[in-house]
Amino acid sequence: MFSAVTNQGKRVILHPFEHTGISDSPPYHCPICNEEVVLKKGKVRRWHFAHRHHSLCRVAPESEEHLEGKAVLFQWLERQNVSPRLEVFLPELGRQADILFTWNAGTYAVEYQCASIPLEEAVQRTNDYLSHHIQPLWIYSSDRLRFDRSQRYSIHAFEWTGLREDQTGSRRTALTYFSPVNGRFSFLYPRASLSSAITYGDLYTADLSCMSISGLVNLPVVVSGERTWIRTWLDTKKKWRYSRSRWHLYPDTRYLRVLFAKRRSDIPYFPAEAGWPVEGMNHFNTPPHHWQSVVLLSFLDPLPLYTSFSLQTAVEEFRSAADGILRLKQSPLVNHPIDKALEQYFRLLEKTSLLQKNGDGWKKVKDVYLPASIDEGYKMDEYYFSCLF
Ligand SMILES: [Zn+2]
Repeated sequence: MFSAVTNQGKRVILHPFEHTGISDSPPYHCPICNEEVVLKKGKVRRWHFAHRHHSLCRVAPESEEHLEGKAVLFQWLERQNVSPRLEVFLPELGRQADILFTWNAGTYAVEYQCASIPLEEAVQRTNDYLSHHIQPLWIYSSDRLRFDRSQRYSIHAFEWTGLREDQTGSRRTALTYFSPVNGRFSFLYPRASLSSAITYGDLYTADLSCMSISGLVNLPVVVSGERTWIRTWLDTKKKWRYSRSRWHLYPDTRYLRVLFAKRRSDIPYFPAEAGWPVEGMNHFNTPPHHWQSVVLLSFLDPLPLYTSFSLQTAVEEFRSAADGILRLKQSPLVNHPIDKALEQYFRLLEKTSLLQKNGDGWKKVKDVYLPASIDEGYKMDEYYFSCLF
């Protein structure tokens, strides 16, 4: 940490780049747990305060990278003229923000996160900030970016908490990463998720010198990358149809089994209109052919042919059917994520001729069909794939 409190209760903050020393004499205490901390005047590492080895404080220990990331981000924010303050202890929240700054009448808390933390902790921290009208900006260490050659990213459950929506109205969402070593921000825009942890995405990087505060807060304006990964989607559907499900223990699968059983069918015979990638799908931990089958079987199937409906009605019906059954991600910084996913899915159903656009809503123009065999289902998948992508 760069900050500590003296015996007299005075707060001392080391400037991360100017080692002029401090006039206040020890002992120094941790602002959070009040344990005594030691001033480390490193030659290689930055000057900082550290807990002793056996400390029980929840902020200890702090990695080199975390210290470095905070310092570089702080310096960059100073250049953006947003009056950043380093390590601000917020007594009403009982926690310390890495950096606090104000911009455009908003207050923002930077949470630079290198290590994994429990999902509940990340959600709690986010909600605490929001309830005090502070907008949290989760910035993860770029070392946390894990991907393979086919643009598949592996994202830790807690990282989804930091998902933010761009402010241009396109409703694209991104996760933010930063590397203090090469001074670069990275923004990961999830495109299509294969499971709760694995997602295809577009990654954009920007040097500190090219980034503006507006770019960071509102997310950079970018164009979608090419969907090279779409080619593998049919293989994914094939697996869903022909392999045994690995999700059989979840309540969504049990619920879905019942939906299919009522129609004398089973999950591998899911309608060919289900299981396609749509924007916003990353909000579900339930696999896409499952939640999309729920939309088709529990909402659209009972609707009489040529009935119109609005997005709002669909969302309400879907929510009540899905409540406690479908597994959803926690992304407190994204507004109405289910609405978005459903709207995108209905647009896709227009292309399969199941729905027709009707004013603000849609009209059902074809009945939901369940394939009689797995082979028939996969043949229909191939057909829709050629029409849709
Ligand atoms: Zn402490």
